[in-house]
Amino acid sequence: MTSSWHGLMENGGRVPEWPYPVRYEQEQEIETDVLVIGGGIAGCWAALSAARTKGVRVALVEKAATVRSGAGGPGGDHWDYAMTCPLMKVDPFVQCQNIIDGQSGYSNGIGHAIECQEGYDAFLEIEKMGAKMRDTNDEFVGAPGRDDKTKLVVASRYGQENNSLRFWGTTVKPTLKKECERLGVRIFDRIMGTSLLNERGIHGARVAGATGVNTRTGEFMIFKAKAVILATAGIGSVWVFNTELAGISTFRSRNASGDGTVMAYRAGAEVTMMEKSGLLYLGTGYKHKIDSGGNDPVFENVPSVDDNGKALPPGYGVSRDAVLKGEFSLPFWGDFPGMSEGWRKINWDLGYQEESTALAMRRCFEEAGYDPTKDLMMNHTLIEGSMPAHFRSPDSMNDRGGVVVDWNLRTTLEGLYAAGEQMFAPAAHGYAAATGRYAGRKAAAYASGASRPVISREQIVREKARVYAPTKRKEGIEWKELHAGMARMMQYFCSEYKTEKLLNMGLDALNEIEEDFVPKLYALDPHKLLRSLEDLNILTFSQLIIRGSLARKASSRPLNFQRIDYPQMDPPEWKKFITLKLVNGKVEVGDLPHGYWGDLKENYEAHNKDYKGVYAG
Ligand SMILES: Cc1cc2nc3c(=O)[nH]c(=O)nc-3n(C[C@H](O)[C@H](O)[C@H](O)COP(=O)(O)OP(=O)(O)OC[C@H]3O[C@@H](n4cnc5c(N)ncnc54)[C@H](O)[C@@H]3O)c2cc1C
Repeated sequence: MTSSWHGLMENGGRVPEWPYPVRYEQEQEIETDVLVIGGGIAGCWAALSAARTKGVRVALVEKAATVRSGAGGPGGDHWDYAMTCPLMKVDPFVQCQNIIDGQSGYSNGIGHAIECQEGYDAFLEIEKMGAKMRDTNDEFVGAPGRDDKTKLVVASRYGQENNSLRFWGTTVKPTLKKECERLGVRIFDRIMGTSLLNERGIHGARVAGATGVNTRTGEFMIFKAKAVILATAGIGSVWVFNTELAGISTFRSRNASGDGTVMAYRAGAEVTMMEKSGLLYLGTGYKHKIDSGGNDPVFENVPSVDDNGKALPPGYGVSRDAVLKGEFSLPFWGDFPGMSEGWRKINWDLGYQEESTALAMRRCFEEAGYDPTKDLMMNHTLIEGSMPAHFRSPDSMNDRGGVVVDWNLRTTLEGLYAAGEQMFAPAAHGYAAATGRYAGRKAAAYASGASRPVISREQIVREKARVYAPTKRKEGIEWKELHAGMARMMQYFCSEYKTEKLLNMGLDALNEIEEDFVPKLYALDPHKLLRSLEDLNILTFSQLIIRGSLARKASSRPLNFQRIDYPQMDPPEWKKFITLKLVNGKVEVGDLPHGYWGDLKENYEAHNKDYKGVYAG
């Protein structure tokens, strides 16, 4: 038994050897036309869509293993806003505007327009590739939302009707990977993208490739590309860090460390909405909760009862007072037996089967003899609120800070595109699929007419020195300690209530970490090197959160942003995006008006005159 320290000691006290050859500093160079960084939902779609363009070579770089990597790798059960599906009742652009209004303008209108207009095309394409997208086995006949003619299952979520389709998300990632391979995409698994290369090494110039490091061998990778698509998603553990809890503790895996956003920022691209954060409120390792009951937003259709069987109001309806007065008795329970058979089946056999976090929990429950037709399930919702305020996340749900894009999903740098959760204010699976697919075709179109990239040796030498610095030391500070320290500083200085003084103290604290502790960071193997490099990205991301927070001199409800020194909520002059950009080594603050994308329908159509709908090839 070597999986515990005790077991290791019993085994003669020998630390197991690193199982791969270590090749620090050695280089491998690859030239391609379109390079995709991040092989999750958006990245795979971007790669296969670019590869459909004749003559365009595509390479995909993935930090983990493409077959199951990313937030959508293990599964998913609902596909939002496939608005051109005949079962949907709202016009795509009306729906898109509804989403934007629902987010009080702090939304990505371009991404949502693509999601609403092309999401269903992506849905049909992945089905053609082999994923299961409808109830072909007639398992759910009679269940709510099941359309007998098409066998599609419409999902009613968050009280909204007809906006989402159910799908069998566990089938998606292997299918996407297979299609990428079929189309000749070169997949580089276990490579972490570390930086973008600007043309001739000039900061802010066209992006001409990227560097990476092999997370098993430590080998250095140089990719030359005419266009690069970033699809590394967002970031999870800025405020909260815990390696001891089973599962993810922040609703995003530790793998989501803001790499793409930081790479783009360092190369000179604009980022925005960095000041937004929220409480961790979904099923995380901090809450022992399989989503049982109306108090949970994920499986919202399970009603809850109190310990006496009294129905709880739906949503977050039970107040602390009502519990203290004895109106409701603890604990609360998810009333699976009280559901109609159809709803129970949809939840248990589709939602809990296909949605990434729930599947493992479902198995545990079933193995322990749980029967949803007979047994209540304890609901561990805490009555005083979901989380302490300093347990925050940029990714409390989805719409948080990221890279600014235009109607081609191009960032503010030539040759650099973004898709999925990489962009600012992104959404979920269908959004990632549709925008990945779109970014792929736009980047391929650009690459088809672009000149060969010219990269700079000097930029590579600098990046190598940065990347390998932790491997040169054998002692000092390890990545976990560094991460824990950064998270604590964010908890202290950039939490629920913010002031200029606190934020400046936070920035000082992070700068001190950068100057005094980062030079002590050491990594004893390529895995620890990967974690160390991620920490450096989390550090820069945290600094950007504070920079954005300092720049916004007003409070804002939609951004969950409370400045004690600027208490006015959402004054009209502050209803805008704050942008951050690196210029001459310094952060330049700018802004973008809400709705900078202009008329949604007009602009979508103007930019997609050649769009052919569902791929026929
Ligand atoms: C538990 C859970 C359940 C969910 N359920 C649903 C659902 O049912 N329906 C729904 O619509 N949405 C759901 N979502 C959200 C959905 O999965 C995501 O929105 C979607 O996967 C985002 O796609 P993406 O490609 O932007 O990011 P991801 O799919 O997360 O992919 C990002 C990829 O980038 C890689 N990467 C990161 N950094 C680097 C780097 N430096 N170099 C190379 N590669 C890198 C990562 O390893 C990862 O593979 C769920 C999310 C979670 C966490």
